Amino acid sequence: MEPFEYRREATVERILEAARAARSERGDARNAASQFIAGGTNMTDYMALGVARPHLVVDINALQEGFGCIDGDQHRLRLGALVRMSQAEDHPLIRRDYPVIAQTLMSAASRQIRNMASLGGNVLQRTRCEYFREVSWPCNKRRPGSGCAAVEGINRQHAVLGTSDHCIAAYPGDFAQALIALAATVETVGGPSGARTIPFAELHRLPDDTPHLETSLAPGELITFLNVPAGPWTRRSCYVKVRDRDSYQFALTSAAVALHLEGDIVREARIALGGVATVPWRAREAEAALQGRKLTETLAATAAAAAFTGACPRKHNAFKVPIGRETLVRALLEAQRMEVST
Ligand SMILES: Cc1cc2nc3c(=O)[nH]c(=O)nc-3n(C[C@H](O)[C@H](O)[C@H](O)COP(=O)(O)OP(=O)(O)OC[C@H]3O[C@@H](n4cnc5c(N)ncnc54)[C@H](O)[C@@H]3O)c2cc1C
Ligand code: SF4
Repeated sequence: MEPFEYRREATVERILEAARAARSERGDARNAASQFIAGGTNMTDYMALGVARPHLVVDINALQEGFGCIDGDQHRLRLGALVRMSQAEDHPLIRRDYPVIAQTLMSAASRQIRNMASLGGNVLQRTRCEYFREVSWPCNKRRPGSGCAAVEGINRQHAVLGTSDHCIAAYPGDFAQALIALAATVETVGGPSGARTIPFAELHRLPDDTPHLETSLAPGELITFLNVPAGPWTRRSCYVKVRDRDSYQFALTSAAVALHLEGDIVREARIALGGVATVPWRAREAEAALQGRKLTETLAATAAAAAFTGACPRKHNAFKVPIGRETLVRALLEAQRMEVST
């Protein structure tokens, strides 16, 4: 790990100012001059590997009081960026009204990690692509223009949706699938024009020919809250995650589903796929295939096929297409079977 300066600041203004000052003093295109740290479970990992090399690490945990709370009413759920994953997964309102959120959190990492890890840090976690994590390999995401070792390498874990010739790394997180399926929004401060709110669907960028640009956040922009609108689909929602090992493992394929049913007729379906795409992936083709129809296993399979129409499998990850389809079918049928009180 390279030497770096660590600062813990107590107010939003001082945190943003510290990040701004580091940028103007020592900004360089390849490595962010400053990085925020919350739980540190992702940042310290990548710093130890030499993948992230910030000059300044700004600890944001002193903002816990302002951004560590969970609120909800009949219109929405509001999650502070410093809420710990375990805090959210244990919350009775989330378990009852947004089960898909609780399930994505509970299926991630280990309880010890989830006690440390924040929701803001979770959505910004970086890919687990082994070539990205090992600095001796060419990797366009880590070193723009150096090439992509995964395209012709071992790509079993990699994405089949949203890929480009420049990067096929899968987005690794689970929670983000719930957020994108439920059309969440992200509140930030410290952007070019101050505070703003953006759709969660606009937070992560497709790799295209600039895979090193992973999000639409400006350098030094801080996530403060995640908002999830309530809807008639949020209670009937679930997450199915398929992985090599049943705990402490990232998804090979996953599906987050939220359904508004009248009888067996689908009034609205919200679907996201994980493990198979370069960014949190809203499966709108699958949603359209279900709209207004009676949900049966056959219809679920049709929707799942639609979700993977644009898939671009590589040498070792073609298995993700049939397993991804099955994962979605399972999630849809599980959501249909849920006992939901009104
Ligand atoms: C062994 C292991 C297994 C795991 N398995 C899973 C899994 O199955 N599923 C899953 O989803 N995750 C998994 N994770 C990832 C884990 O969930 C993340 O490391 C964690 O959620 C990151 O949160 P953090 O608060 O520790 O982030 P940090 O490490 O503190 O930060 C991560 C990134 O977010 C930035 N950041 C943090 N907070 C903010 C903010 N408020 N505004 C702007 N930028 C911010 C930081 O600068 C950094 O770039 C695993 C991790 C490990 C180590
Ligand atoms: S898939 Fe992306 S992250 Fe992995 S080596 Fe290629 S460019 Fe790097």
